[in-house]
Amino acid sequence: MKIGRIVGLGLLAGLGVVAVRVVKQYREDSAFDLAPVSATGSTPAVSGGKRTISPELLEILACPVDKQPVKLEDDFLVCHTCGRKYPVEDGIPIMLIEEGDKHRDESLIQQ
Ligand SMILES: [Zn+2]
Repeated sequence: MKIGRIVGLGLLAGLGVVAVRVVKQYREDSAFDLAPVSATGSTPAVSGGKRTISPELLEILACPVDKQPVKLEDDFLVCHTCGRKYPVEDGIPIMLIEEGDKHRDESLIQQ
C-alpha cells in the first residue's frame, strides 16, 4: 500500500519532468519560428541580451581594496571611495584589484 503510493508519486514526478521537457522543447522550437514576436507574454529572464546583476548580489558585493559598497553603473561596478571600476562580463562581476586599477578614474571619488 505504502510502496504503491511511493511508486505512484515517482511516476507522477517522472511524468512531470517529461512534460516540462516537452514544453521547454516546444518553446525553444517556437522561439525560432516566432523570433521577434513575444506575444505569449512570457519573456525569458535571459533573452540573449545582456544579463544584469540582481540587487541581492549587488548588496553583498564590496570593493576588494577598501571593502566599501559598489554601485552598478553601465557595465561597471564603481567604488566611489577609491575610484576603481570593476567590469561586469555576462552578468558576472570581475572583482579583482588589478581590473579595478585598469579602469580607475579618480574623478569618481566622492569624499
Ligand atoms: Zn574601493
